Amino acid sequence: MPDATPPPKIKLVYILGSSRSGSTALDTVLGGSTGALSTGELGHLHWALQEGDIPEYATSSIAYCSCGARVEQCPLWSKVVSAWGQQQDLRAVGREADRFETPLTSLPTLLLGRLFRTRAFREHLEFLGWSARSVAEIGGATTVVDSTKVAGRGWCYSLLPSSEFDVRFVHVVRDGPSVVSSMISHYKPHKHDSGPSPWPRLAATAFSTAHWVYMNLASSCLGAFNRRRYLRVRFEDLLDDPDGTLEKLGRFLDLDVREVRGRVRSGEPMPAGHLLCGNRTKGSALRLVRAPAPSEAGLPLGSSLVFLWLAGWLQWAYARPWPRAGPA
Ligand SMILES: [Zn+2]
Repeated sequence: MPDATPPPKIKLVYILGSSRSGSTALDTVLGGSTGALSTGELGHLHWALQEGDIPEYATSSIAYCSCGARVEQCPLWSKVVSAWGQQQDLRAVGREADRFETPLTSLPTLLLGRLFRTRAFREHLEFLGWSARSVAEIGGATTVVDSTKVAGRGWCYSLLPSSEFDVRFVHVVRDGPSVVSSMISHYKPHKHDSGPSPWPRLAATAFSTAHWVYMNLASSCLGAFNRRRYLRVRFEDLLDDPDGTLEKLGRFLDLDVREVRGRVRSGEPMPAGHLLCGNRTKGSALRLVRAPAPSEAGLPLGSSLVFLWLAGWLQWAYARPWPRAGPA
């Protein structure tokens, strides 16, 4: 006999922004709210599993959950993978996600899918909704926090039925030169390479700046079409005034953040939980601590000029306050 009771509404908090902007820290903090669950880069679960399949990548940090276990052995993700595996082939999930969510290349497919509601697009949306619900049910949460950051995935989330999902977007923006400096020092042509980047510094600066501009602009565009459920926060504000910023986030997201604010005020670490692909919290806990930003010491002159030329206008635009109304 069919169950007439509608399933409880799931709140889906999607974190947008550029790489190295503090999204993992924000994900961890929001996931500490009552009833919430951090997932890290949920859209990359299939990556984490495929990394585990390839022997030479077996020690890759992507193959591990932030709890320290390999993803397929983690107490949370092993159950999710088992549930997903019964629903759909996880490699096929990855292929579909890439078609609609990957930056740049997915844009035409995403637009066509949205305009014509192609069968593949509808199936992808159904899977996204089903997967968010299954993660919430298995994790015992009513709110799921996903920090995959890719705007294409946000577009897909924005189209989930509002009767079943309460989707809200938090766009975290970190000072551009700090992101560029961090990316230059960590950038590798392939994610498994080690050692210093072989790229010339100015080329790496231009690439990192273009990434910062593209990811943030794509996030802002998504926000422009979802004004009532979008909030932009500066990562520096989260570090300089964590209590005030968390209070603002709690109000916007309609989340109970009292416990998290208490932890932050007393300097207690935040348990890292079960985050996927966020590489700064593996097996550890997080403290919101303001470290001196590399840009405060200044990027080298050449890199600064490249950044200013390519992205000075956006840095200026984001430095201005942008008041936002909360959701209706
Ligand atoms: Zn785990």
